[in-house]
This record gives sequence, structure tokens and C-alpha cells, in this order.
Amino acid sequence: MLNDFSDFQIDSFSIKPTLGCNLRCDYCYCHGGAADMLQDCRTMNPEVLHRLLDSYRQLVCKQSRFVHSDGFLPLVWHGGEPLLAGVEKFQEYFKIEKEFEDHLSIHNVVQTNLTLLSSAWINFFKFHQVILGISLDGNADMHDTHRKKSDGRGSYEIVIKKLKKIREEKIPFGTIGVVTGKNQMSATTIYNHMKEIGVNYYDWTPAIFDGEHECVLTNKEYTNFFSGLFDVWMNASDGNCEIKIINDIVAVMKYEKKTASTCPRILCEFSGRCGNAMSVLPNGDIFPCECLVNLPRFRLGNILEQSLEDILEGEKFEYFVREFNDVSPECMECQWFGICKGGCLHRRAPECVGSAKKDYFCPGRKALFSHIKKRLFHEK
Ligand code: SF4
Ligand code: SF4
Ligand code: SF4
Repeated sequence: MLNDFSDFQIDSFSIKPTLGCNLRCDYCYCHGGAADMLQDCRTMNPEVLHRLLDSYRQLVCKQSRFVHSDGFLPLVWHGGEPLLAGVEKFQEYFKIEKEFEDHLSIHNVVQTNLTLLSSAWINFFKFHQVILGISLDGNADMHDTHRKKSDGRGSYEIVIKKLKKIREEKIPFGTIGVVTGKNQMSATTIYNHMKEIGVNYYDWTPAIFDGEHECVLTNKEYTNFFSGLFDVWMNASDGNCEIKIINDIVAVMKYEKKTASTCPRILCEFSGRCGNAMSVLPNGDIFPCECLVNLPRFRLGNILEQSLEDILEGEKFEYFVREFNDVSPECMECQWFGICKGGCLHRRAPECVGSAKKDYFCPGRKALFSHIKKRLFHEK
């Protein structure tokens, strides 16, 4: 078994105040078809947040294993585009957070495409000490390949203009980029670009795909891209470059013998953990992860109808645990299991890639781990 979930904890919540978005990135899983979520601009009723926090507080009071060792609860405001909900709505949400401040130490992160940033938002972020996660796919060519405005033009120019403002205002931020078969570039180009625009903390993820888009990386491309990132990270002489996925692979490689639960803030796809950053939709629906919200079979319940405790003890959660553990026997025998741990549940889901019960990027990951290990431990 990969993980019996006996020490399951909630590391954070990914909260979607709206599913709507002002951009039309063509790889977006919310975009396309009859159920185009990006058109849905209804916002989350603050009551949903109240129920969630109240339920979480009760859970933590009742079951001490849910008390997180680092003592705080990150709320990651996600979308769609969360800024579309508006500053006033966020003021209502944050007022609710305040009601729980005696019990919960909440840290707020807003994951945004940044295009709707205004001086009102800047004041709000500064006042509430919000950290920003900014969606940025590298340089203009790379970014504008997929990240389009509704008129079809690229959004890079406006993002960079607003990023400059964020830096001037000293609001802490990192960026996250999506690499696809269409937009990939050399890691050195990316590294130099990030340095040029003053971004020292960033992450990359391979496109989340649903079979409709033609941007999935091949395994070879996956290995080349992430090996290249590792190489620039290793060679960075100023020590001022943190790339989350690379940092985490290196950390897991160095401490491979430790169990998953000793490193909870390591990316889930290398820690054998899943569902620890639960996603909450505007209507109160709960999913184990942001990546799984378009797969209805993983809907765990609704916070307006059930407590978190009931959700975690319910049949849907049991089903999710079974699915997570349903990996290929090959994984358990694999020489890279200590680092890979079967990878990501979403990338094993048949709706996404056709499943062999292994991470879609299995061959790519093997080659990547091998590359990193050789350089890290000077193996031949
Ligand atoms: S900014 Fe995010 S939510 Fe909006 S279209 Fe792009 S990927 Fe989708
Ligand atoms: S590298 Fe492949 S076989 Fe090995 S644990 Fe990962 S997914 Fe399983
Ligand atoms: S589905 Fe993948 S990304 Fe989501 S929590 Fe599970 S392992 Fe992590």
C-alpha cells in the first residue's frame, strides 16, 4: 500500500471564490465544451468559508492528529481568476477569517494571473500580508503560446507590467509556469529571463491535460525540460534561485529513507501523499485536490451539507483512498519508488491519459531522477 492515510492531515485549502476567468488560456481545464467553467462568474457565498473554517476548527479540536506541526493553515485563493470576485468580496471573506483568529493561524496566498491587479488590490494585499502566486509561463513567446486574453492576444505584456508594480510595492510573490509540448524552451533561456525580471522563486508543472488539447509533453520532453532546470539550478552561482520542483526532488533524494509524513510541505507527487490541499468550489463542493475538480467521481461532499469530519469518514473519501493506492505492482518494485512513490493520482486517471496505473510521466521521471542522482552524488 502506498499510504494508509492513518496520519492524513490537511496542509491547506485551495479555495475557489469563483470559477470564472477573464483569460482564455487554451490548456485550462476549466475551458471548453458545454461546461465551460470560465464563463461562470458566480462568487462563493461567504457562508461557505464560514462553514469550512468552523468545521476545520472543530476537527482540529476533536482530533489532535489534525493539528499541523508548523502551526498555521494556508488558504490558497484560486480560480478561475480569484481577483474577479472583487476586493469587497475578499474583505467579507477576510472578516470571516478574523472570527477564527483565536483558534487558527491563517496565512493567505492568492494564485492569480495578475491582469486585474489595481491599486485597491495592492492596498488589500499589503494590509493583509498576502503572498502572491503569479501564473507566468516564462518569456513572451512561451507565455503567449497559450495564455491568451479573450480577444485572442497574449497576456504577457500586461502581466509583466503588473509584476513590476508588485515588486515596487514589495509584495512577496513567486511564479508558477506550465510547460507544454508547444511552449517549451531551454532552461537557460528561462533562467536568464526570470533573473532579468527579478523572479527568484518559481515552479513549473507539466500541463494538466484532458485529451482535448494538443499540448501534452512527451516523456522525452519532460526529461529534457526538468533535467535542464536542474542543471541551471545546480550551476546557479549566486545561490539565489529556488525552483520548487527541483528543490523538492533534491530534498527527497537526500532524505529518501524518511517516511512521507516527515516532509509534509514537499510536493505531493514526491511525498506519497495526496488530498492534503483540498479544493473548495464556490458552491461548497469539496475535492481532494485542485487537479481533480473536473473528475466528478472524486467529489467528496459539500461543506454546506456535511462537516469535514463526516466527509473524511465518508464512502467518497474511502473511494479516493482506494483509487490513490491502486498503483501498478511495478511501482512497488521500482528502483525509484522511494522518490517517485507512484507519482500523481491525476496523471494516473484514465479520464486524463489512459491508465497503466502509473504516472503518465513514468519513463520521463525515471530518466530525470537518474540524471539528478548522477550529478548530485557524482555517480558515473
Ligand atoms: S488564468 Fe488560469 S483559470 Fe484563467 S484561463 Fe488561464 S489557466 Fe484558466
Ligand atoms: S518511476 Fe514509474 S514505476 Fe517507478 S514508482 Fe514512478 S511511476 Fe512507478
Ligand atoms: S492528484 Fe496529484 S497533484 Fe493532486 S494531490 Fe494528488 S498527487 Fe498531488
